[in-house]
Amino acid sequence: MTDREAYRIKYSKIATERMKDDQCPSCGKPKKEWTRRTDWRCCSVECTKIFDKEHDQSLNWDWVRSRIFKRDNYICAMCGERFAIVAKHPDFKGEEYADSSQLICDHIVPLAMDGAMWDMGNLQTLCIECNKIKTAIDLKNIAEFKKIKDKKSKHHTFKDVYTKNKILHKTYSKVYILKVLQLRKP
Ligand SMILES: [Zn+2]
Ligand SMILES: [Zn+2]
Repeated sequence: MTDREAYRIKYSKIATERMKDDQCPSCGKPKKEWTRRTDWRCCSVECTKIFDKEHDQSLNWDWVRSRIFKRDNYICAMCGERFAIVAKHPDFKGEEYADSSQLICDHIVPLAMDGAMWDMGNLQTLCIECNKIKTAIDLKNIAEFKKIKDKKSKHHTFKDVYTKNKILHKTYSKVYILKVLQLRKP
């Protein structure tokens, strides 16, 4: 997966309303009272910082999740099963949606192993059952990762551990996942 897409930022409700009313999205100060250019987003450097911080964190996870499900065509990356619902409502009849009750948006390299939170290349669709297996693998690897990281250097990245440690390499290879699946489906 090399797909690195830019995220469309969703503004908070209050920020959206303030912008619509020609106010600073962070503090609500009307543009008329600004001492800087009014085609800028916020009334001050301070407010810009607040705005950026808020909206970085509120990048809507639900939105990212649904993008990933759609990109993966609602197919679990491990077992290959598809979990889609066909809409029955007249306005959307026939359109497909992810069966969210069956799907998990998984961080391929876990966050605890320095995996990227918002990188679409680090996200995949898994079904609930396969996610349980993946989580078990992750937990072992996270423990291993922490051991190596503590022992060697604080700046060890997942990649270092991944390439140096055969156990980790094995657990994330396709062969291993296939083996796991064989165990799951007799
Ligand atoms: Zn402001
Ligand atoms: Zn699955």
